Amino acid sequence: MTTVRRVLAVSPHLDDAALSAGATLADFAIRGADVHVVTLFAGAPHEPISPVARAFHVRGGLPQDASAVALRSAEDRAAMDQLGARTHHRGFLDAIYRRTPEGRWLCGHDQAMFDELPLDQGDLRGEVCRDVRRILAAIDPDLVLTCAAVGDHVDHRLTRAAVLDAAAGARAPVLLWEDLPYAIGRPPPPALSETPAARSDAWERKWRAIACYPTQIRMLWPAHVDWAAQLRSHAETRGQGSPAELLAPGLS
Ligand SMILES: [Zn+2]
Repeated sequence: MTTVRRVLAVSPHLDDAALSAGATLADFAIRGADVHVVTLFAGAPHEPISPVARAFHVRGGLPQDASAVALRSAEDRAAMDQLGARTHHRGFLDAIYRRTPEGRWLCGHDQAMFDELPLDQGDLRGEVCRDVRRILAAIDPDLVLTCAAVGDHVDHRLTRAAVLDAAAGARAPVLLWEDLPYAIGRPPPPALSETPAARSDAWERKWRAIACYPTQIRMLWPAHVDWAAQLRSHAETRGQGSPAELLAPGLS
């Protein structure tokens, strides 16, 4: 890869970039690149929040109001400091906080975000795409990373679609990361390939960054599961012995 001076990672939620591509991003930062991580669905919800959102907050040990997002934003800033990345938070609402154009909650049950929900929710897809286009123009990256949407979370699918639309015709190539932890235990997606090996200090940065998200660790892993061991084991499986993150060229 030619010299990469500026990297833009577009993350759906406040944890995805670190979980899925943290070592790659830290590696670029250690090599002197300017690394920007933009999290799209980081907006504070209107109250009252939905029953699904309340259950999500209980699982994460989060307060039952909009201050939960401020708390998660602070976790993300701490994590990005560990990676050596600059943090940007956008105001789109997470699927658990959104309503349909008809006024119903988008997520009527706690796994609904993985259902085949349409990406065209009002003008959301267009708004997200226009926002990503503005960010691309402002940062002018040499490389763009975003999620492959493994697991089919609706916000991950929206992010992938918006980034591929916004970056079409732009000079920077787009690479898609394998979404973690959703990809754990699944065979590697055939279109994804292993990244060049990141330095060991980049991996140490990744583990320290993920530890900055205690609410998401509580949400994503049962208390008896060692999240760090599980993620390390997954990375070593993907790299056939040495840890790797999988990335694939983004094709729209
Ligand atoms: Zn996510």
